Amino acid sequence: MIQINNLSKTYIQTDGTQTKVLRGISLNVEKGEVISIIGPSGTGKSTFLRCINGIENADGGEIIFEGENILAPNADLKQVRQKIGMVFQNFNLFDHLTILQNLTIAPMKLLGMSRDEAEKQALELLRQVGMAEKANVMPSSLSGGQKQRVAIARCLSMHPDCILFDEPTSALDPTMVGEVLSVIRHLASEGMTMLIVTHEMQFAKDVSTRVVFLSEGNILEDGTPEQVFDNPQHQETKDFLQRNRRLHYELTSREADTYAINSDVAAFCLKYGVTGKTFRIELVLEELLHVIAKDCRPLTLDITFSEQSRQLTIDLLAHGVTTSLLQKADQLSAQIVRGVSCNIKETITPEGVLLQTESNAAKE
Ligand code: ADP
Repeated sequence: MIQINNLSKTYIQTDGTQTKVLRGISLNVEKGEVISIIGPSGTGKSTFLRCINGIENADGGEIIFEGENILAPNADLKQVRQKIGMVFQNFNLFDHLTILQNLTIAPMKLLGMSRDEAEKQALELLRQVGMAEKANVMPSSLSGGQKQRVAIARCLSMHPDCILFDEPTSALDPTMVGEVLSVIRHLASEGMTMLIVTHEMQFAKDVSTRVVFLSEGNILEDGTPEQVFDNPQHQETKDFLQRNRRLHYELTSREADTYAINSDVAAFCLKYGVTGKTFRIELVLEELLHVIAKDCRPLTLDITFSEQSRQLTIDLLAHGVTTSLLQKADQLSAQIVRGVSCNIKETITPEGVLLQTESNAAKE
C-alpha cells in the first residue's frame, strides 16, 4: 500500500543550524498491517508520519502510495490526506463545532455527501466508538479519552485506506488510555492499515503485526513484536526497552515531592497493566515515603516492571542506615504494621537498609 524509499528530512532552525531528522528511511507497508513505531523522543517518529500524509515536506526520497509518488511536485495532496488519515496527540477537534458537526463537515465539503448522508454516517461512526450519546455536545464538555475517540471517528468519516496515529494516548490522563487503545485495537481486528507512534509498549506488543524501532532518524529494528521486544538486535533497542520499564528516583532533600512520585507510580502501574495489587503497592510506597523518608536521606527508589515475569518490584534503599527501618516505621505508624508491612522484605546491607516489595501481575 505504501512504499517509502530513502526518505530524508532536515529542519532549518531559526538560528540557521540544520537538524537532520530523517536519514534515509525505507519501509514497505502492506494492506492490513498494523505497524507500531517506537523509539526515544526527538528521533523523528512524528516527522516521519507527518511526511507520509504530506503535512510536512520531505526533502528527499519517495513515498509511493497506491502506485503514485506523493512527493512528486504534481501530487494531489488533498487526495492523499483523505486516503491517509491522521490522529493527533492533541485531538485537533474543531472546538466551535458540535461533535456531530466535527464529523460531517469534511465529508460534506470534500466527499460531496448530503447533510443527511453525512449525519447518518457520523452517528454510525460515533456509535462504533461509543460516543453517539454525545453527538450534540461541544468538544469542551468531553474528557480527553472521549475527545480522542471522536477524533478517530472523524478520521474514519473520510473513508481512509490507512490511518496514522501520532502518540494518540500521550496527552491523556492514565485512566483514559484504555478506552482509546480499545478503539484502535478494534480497528486493527477489522483489518484497518495503521501506523502507530506510541510509548505504550504492552499495547504495541499486543496489537501490532510489526514493530519498527527508530533512532536518530534511522530504522534500527523492523520485525514482529516478538523479534523486536524479545530479541532486539541492537544494544540501543535493549537499553530503550529496559529504560521504559523503570522508574528511578534519588531523594536527597527533605522537600522532595513524594505525592508526585506516588502519582508517577500509579501511572506506571496502569501503563503495564498492573492492577488490583497496585493499590497495595501504592499504599506501601506512600507509607515508606511519608514515614521513613522523614528523616532518612539520601534514599534511592527503583520501581521496575519485568515484561517477562510481569512482576513489579519496588526497591527503596536508605543509604548509611544500619538499624531496622520497619521497626522504626512500626513505632511511627500503626497502619504499616497492621496493614501492608507484611509484604515488605527488609535487608540490612553494607550500603544501608534495603526495603523490597513486589507484585506479580500475572498471578492476579
Ligand atoms: P519524535 O516524534 O521522535 O519525538 P519529532 O519528529 O517530533 O521526534 O522531532 C524530531 C526532531 O526534529 C526534534 O529534534 C525536533 O526538535 C525537531 N523538529 C520537529 N519539528 C520541527 C520543526 N517544525 N522545526 C524545527 N525542528 C523541528
